[in-house]
Amino acid sequence: MTGRGAGPRPVSVILATAGIHLQARSRRSTGWIPAPDRVEGRLRRNDGPGRAKTPGALDWGVGPKIFAVSPKNILNADLHCHSVVSDGTLSPEALAERAKLNGVELWALTDHDEVGGQQRALAAAQAQGMRYLTGAEISVTFAGETVHIVGLGFDADDLALRQGLLATRSGRRERAQEMSEGLAQVGIRGAYEGALKFVGNPELISRTHFARFLVESGVCKETNEVFRKYLTEGKPGYVPHRWASLHNAVSWITGAQGVAVIAHPARYKFTPNEEFALFSEFKAHGGQAVEVVTGSHSVQEYVRYAEAAKEFGLAASRGSDFHSPDESHTDLGTLPFLPGELTPVWELLADRIQ
Ligand SMILES: [Zn+2]
Ligand SMILES: [Zn+2]
Repeated sequence: MTGRGAGPRPVSVILATAGIHLQARSRRSTGWIPAPDRVEGRLRRNDGPGRAKTPGALDWGVGPKIFAVSPKNILNADLHCHSVVSDGTLSPEALAERAKLNGVELWALTDHDEVGGQQRALAAAQAQGMRYLTGAEISVTFAGETVHIVGLGFDADDLALRQGLLATRSGRRERAQEMSEGLAQVGIRGAYEGALKFVGNPELISRTHFARFLVESGVCKETNEVFRKYLTEGKPGYVPHRWASLHNAVSWITGAQGVAVIAHPARYKFTPNEEFALFSEFKAHGGQAVEVVTGSHSVQEYVRYAEAAKEFGLAASRGSDFHSPDESHTDLGTLPFLPGELTPVWELLADRIQ
């Protein structure tokens, strides 16, 4: 993250003051976005034969610095998505079929705080002829913000990992009841019971399930609107929650022989110093990769986090974060390839691919 004006503050200072200055800030004003003359590439459709294996897959455009795709990165890997085991709407089997249809070659199911779908996902991937990495997306609290850490290629039977995920799940029900009380105060009754109807696993009740209930009951037209009006900070259904620590989540993953990945880093409302602290501490705890190409990132954010990956010596991951055919803008397997110069995370996991 070169080009920041002031040097990073000590992490202890950042954490001590976290919560005081966590108001939303523009991510685009953080000062270490590459200068415009470096942003030479543009996404374009690559319909040429023998390149993109997915019809309509996007390829990086021209650009000598970071836009070239090297042969090691030309793999349709989708290493982030959700099934009914957490807050997705498709079964692991239906996801595997959809991934295969979209040309995915290496797949991982990464349900929130739960590995209960892993055996089904592996069997479904094998039935479809796709290679598979185990996966999970763990919620952690860092500097007052919820951050997601994806684990890939771990041993899903590892006891410490399973216990850590169980502890992470246990707070969700209580939080959901508090969210429901907040919504009742603005006249929306029965939201907890309503949200439960959308949950495959009651231990994994989340804001997404409340959003689906509020759309079904006609309070809002779409789930994005529910989040905006009711479920984000300062809104009636928002309840802050303290998740696992970054250190714990990374340790559970690496202790089970997996690789830890910072998920969709552009989504967090961090100041530049807080973001620097996240990357530094993640790396210090043994984290090894960051999602660069993911469903919620813009092209500019691909560039920015490709730079961050290089600066921190992290491998890069690629994943749609697909949840549902009705809600997700990015389908499985349809993202651009990872930029060249980056080490794809699957290189670190060669012996964990099944
Ligand atoms: Zn996430
Ligand atoms: Zn996700």
